[in-house]
Order: sequence, then structure tokens, then C-alpha cells
Amino acid sequence: MNIIFIAPPAAGKGTLSDKLVTKYDYKHISTGDLLREEIKKQSALGKRIDKIISKGELVSDEIITELLKNELQNLKGEKFILDGYPRNIAQAEILKSIFDELNIDNYVTIYLDLEEELAMKRALGRVICSKCGASYNTYFENFMPKKTGICDKCGSELKHRADDTEETFKKRFQTYIDVTSPVLDYYKKLEKLYVIDANVESDEVFKVVEQILQSGNVGN
Ligand SMILES: [Zn+2]
Repeated sequence: MNIIFIAPPAAGKGTLSDKLVTKYDYKHISTGDLLREEIKKQSALGKRIDKIISKGELVSDEIITELLKNELQNLKGEKFILDGYPRNIAQAEILKSIFDELNIDNYVTIYLDLEEELAMKRALGRVICSKCGASYNTYFENFMPKKTGICDKCGSELKHRADDTEETFKKRFQTYIDVTSPVLDYYKKLEKLYVIDANVESDEVFKVVEQILQSGNVGN
């Protein structure tokens, strides 16, 4: 079963994807990576993308669609996780037409449902060790460093990761929810949508994802 992940900031989509790749050999397809790879290849398209991005402009849906279609066509029977796409209803419709063309119907759309307050604490509370990379969270007792601002493991300084303030995070989160809600309706109508409670530990979320993949029935 292929997976489309739709998740607000700090819902733990990255961790889940990593686990699925490791345990079930999923191919992780992120549109951000596809763009970066194409630029690296120095292809004609890659050069165009490079120009667009250096000017600070957004890469068009057409270009992203082309890259995505190539990637999906070149899968050799691997299951895939689609990450970062579709972001809006127009992209969801484009994706559906690519899937139809390539005869892809064995997929589920998984929405990681997360409360704004928790998302904010996860995102803004996160501190990382500048030396060993260990990560902590200043909001959650289980994840706090023993000494404020100091890594338990190596004693180095901890740094905040997010650029957001509470206000900008909440705005970003709300925008995400607003843009995504028609996408969720779209997949619900197609009977491809699963909504998972992501306000729990990531191991628990992973178990629920596994159950969905094993049962293979969609439409709840
Ligand atoms: Zn450290």
C-alpha cells in the first residue's frame, strides 16, 4: 500500500517516514528532494529550476508534476511514501490524474491530526546539541535536559532550532490547516482518507499506521 502523508508542522511525519523506509523498504519521495536532485543533475530542467529558486520565486505546479511523474514512472515495484505533495486542492487533482495515467490505485492518504498547542510546544521547545546533535525539548519533562541549556550527553551548549515565535508558528499552522482542509475532503470523497491522532508518542502513531497498512481497507 502506497502512502500519501499529509501533516501539519511538528506532527512527526519525518520520523514516521524514516521508520517505514527502514522497516518496510518504502521509497520516500519528497518534492523538495526531487527539485534538489534535478538541479544537481544539471539537466536543462534542473538549470531552469535553479534559476527560478535563485530568484526567490516558486517552482510551478507544472514542473513539480513533471518531476513527480518521472519519479513514479521509474519506480521498480517499490512502494512509495509521498511527502510534501499535494499541498492544495489543485495539486491533489493533478496527482489524481498522474495516478490514473500510471494505474496507481493502491494508496492511502494519512492525515496526522495534531493540536496546535502541542505542535507549537514540539516545534518551539526543541533544542539541539551543537556538538553531538542530541535533541531535547524544553516544554516536556521527559525530554528536558538535566541542566538548562546544556547537553546531558556531552556537556555542550544546546541551541533552539525554530526561527518561529509563538505568533508566527500559530499563523503558519493555521494557514496549513486552512489550505489542507479541502484536500482532506477530496480524499475523503475518494474513500482514501485516514485521520490519525498524532497527539501521542511517535511509537504509538507508527503502530496505528502499521495497522492501516495491514488491514488495507480505507474509507474510515
Ligand atoms: Zn551533546
